[in-house]
Amino acid sequence: MSGAVKGWCPGALRPMESGDGLVVRVRPHGGRLTAAQALRLADLAETAGSGMIDLGSRAHLQLRGVRAAALPELHAALADMELLDPDPAQEARRNILTTPVWREEDATPRLVAALEAALADGPVLPPKFGFAVDTGAAAVLGGASADIRIERAGDGLILRADGMVLGEPVTEAEAPARALALARWFAAGGGGRMAQRIAAGTLPPLEATTPPLTGAPLCPGPTPFGACRALPFGQMEVAVLRHLAVAPLRLTPWRSVVVEGCADLPPHPGLIDRADDPLLRVVACTGAPGCASASVETRALARRLALLVPEGAVLHLSGCAKGCAHPKPATLTLTGREGAFDLIVEGRPDAPPRLRGLAPETIPEILGDHLAPRL
Ligand code: SF4
Repeated sequence: MSGAVKGWCPGALRPMESGDGLVVRVRPHGGRLTAAQALRLADLAETAGSGMIDLGSRAHLQLRGVRAAALPELHAALADMELLDPDPAQEARRNILTTPVWREEDATPRLVAALEAALADGPVLPPKFGFAVDTGAAAVLGGASADIRIERAGDGLILRADGMVLGEPVTEAEAPARALALARWFAAGGGGRMAQRIAAGTLPPLEATTPPLTGAPLCPGPTPFGACRALPFGQMEVAVLRHLAVAPLRLTPWRSVVVEGCADLPPHPGLIDRADDPLLRVVACTGAPGCASASVETRALARRLALLVPEGAVLHLSGCAKGCAHPKPATLTLTGREGAFDLIVEGRPDAPPRLRGLAPETIPEILGDHLAPRL
């Protein structure tokens, strides 16, 4: 298959092979799709792929089960919608997470456009390396993955390296070029992630004096920006995307979508519209059979287990120790291994397990024992 590579970060120009076909990642500019783009993407997901679409933790969409033979037509359609980069290197660099809480009067859309333009001429960066433009009324993306952040700080903006508490005050005009300079500094020093390098004692060349003004992530339900709806496990069928596409969509890193300006949206079984929905307490990756690395099914089991998870706790089902869906500690993690699960308490999917080799049917009772103290 031409153009397919194995790797952690698929793109549109470099799709990744998975258990259910190719995964084609689409990064909408500014994390926003028009209703027409969303409807056309739904059609493409159906004709070129399996009809399943992921919404990832960097607010990108992934069309799943794409056939290699359908790629040329898919690329042409993405280019027609201005959703395709000129080449794989530019696609990889344009890894920009945009705050979903921006308003017309703030600088966010201009900053994203200017940063995209600056990065077109940027250095080669590690595959997971990314930027956040978090310049709504408050910075809300602090828990999402990004290495270089442009953030709101009171009346102004700061440039902050991930892993530092403070950032350097910048003007709107300065911010994209300063972000690019910071990326060049990082690239010149090797690979990895920004926070790792800072934790190891190498500080970036910033006059870091100012903390960001922080706010809370959006929850499912009504918001000042439109109706927010979460996707169970960050996945939807094309019918769900068509249901959402009644207005422009803002994609969030919290596996949810804001339907811009929409006061309410009719319920849909494929959408979560309440912040207290138990499904929000479970995280599950693709698992088997969709992912070739998995030996266990994850999402149907996660649905069955969700009601056992008390508010404030997180249960993570990971098809293998890689932990794609939640590569950090959870209250309890079930990591698939050789057709069974290992149980990890307050750890990452690759941490030493408390229990090993659990058959799926035994898990509800075991989980109850471990979660009882939290109820
Ligand atoms: S964590 Fe899940 S999605 Fe990631 S490689 Fe393992 S089984 Fe596949």
